[in-house]
Amino acid sequence: MWVVPEKEIAGLMTLEAAFDAVESVFAAMASGDAYNFPVVREAIGHKDALYGFKGGFDSQSLSLGLKAGGYWPHNHEQGLINHQSTVFLFDPDTGRVSAAVGGNLLTALRTAAASAVSTKYLAPKGAKVLGMIGAGHQAAFQMRSALRFGQFEKVIGWNLHPEMLSRLADVAAEFGVPFQTVGLDQLGEQADVIISITSSYDPILMDAHVTGPTHIAAMGTDTQGKQELDPALVARAALFTDEVAQSLGIGEFQHAAAQKLILEDNVIALGRIINGDHPGRGDAEVTIFDGTGVGLQDLAVASAVVKLAKQQGKAIEVEI
Ligand code: NAD
Repeated sequence: MWVVPEKEIAGLMTLEAAFDAVESVFAAMASGDAYNFPVVREAIGHKDALYGFKGGFDSQSLSLGLKAGGYWPHNHEQGLINHQSTVFLFDPDTGRVSAAVGGNLLTALRTAAASAVSTKYLAPKGAKVLGMIGAGHQAAFQMRSALRFGQFEKVIGWNLHPEMLSRLADVAAEFGVPFQTVGLDQLGEQADVIISITSSYDPILMDAHVTGPTHIAAMGTDTQGKQELDPALVARAALFTDEVAQSLGIGEFQHAAAQKLILEDNVIALGRIINGDHPGRGDAEVTIFDGTGVGLQDLAVASAVVKLAKQQGKAIEVEI
């Protein structure tokens, strides 16, 4: 089997490669060629950790495997990041393990790619202002990906903890784009595309905040109970997601669904637009992409990185 260490990922994987891998796998999911296995997520009763597995099989690219890992809230005390994960790939012809790949940076890249893919297909025409809600570890990746693939001329941002917003200002400076800190009402009024990526358990962006044609990529809610959007905003928007069942169970749309403001049929897999099987935005004023994060995204980027690592002599071969 091949091992690709976490320290090699930054030198191998690009935003472009992540974008292509995620766009392809969303298409394969929507056409029924790829499916995700049920997610396992357990509070293990040790170190307050949440541990679990996200896996799947893509019969188009022949990616089979899982990402194992989770959230260790006290890791930063040892100088480690709190989210830790590893992707394991298997040969679908024999069941033999084929690769183990560091999954921490890959998770950020595949999550940032998902929102950028949603923006490619759903942003209002001529979108120029990007609004960021959240300024944590993932937010910088989200913003970089949005600026790399969009035509944004300005970024505005809000965060519950304003002292963290300098992270967004730094990314804006990398791209030579102006950055301004704003209130949520200004953010909802001015932004054409909004990315929310927080660990909030209460709605942040309210229905009344959002005016005019807007696309929202809601990326922070990946667990039961987390929430970033007002269910009334969700109820009036055209709704898209990576995987419908996951979105209603652990994604942003869980709340509007629980309040019976939306039905399963209202939520469209983004891959259907990619496959030309759904018109996308149409005449909707607000679109929302609920990015819940699926195992197949992890397998797609891990498979791409193994290929690159082998080509560049950075994969280590071990006997198992
Ligand atoms: P982080 O801890 O680095 O940052 C957390 C962010 O949330 C900060 O901006 C913080 O100010 C904000 N925040 C914290 N508590 C809040 C509250 N009560 N109300 C409003 N804002 C609050 O975390 P991160 O690594 O950037 O991850 C952010 C979120 O994204 C997490 O919920 C994580 O689980 C989720 N995530 C989702 C995916 C996916 O595929 N959808 C992938 C990775 C991470």
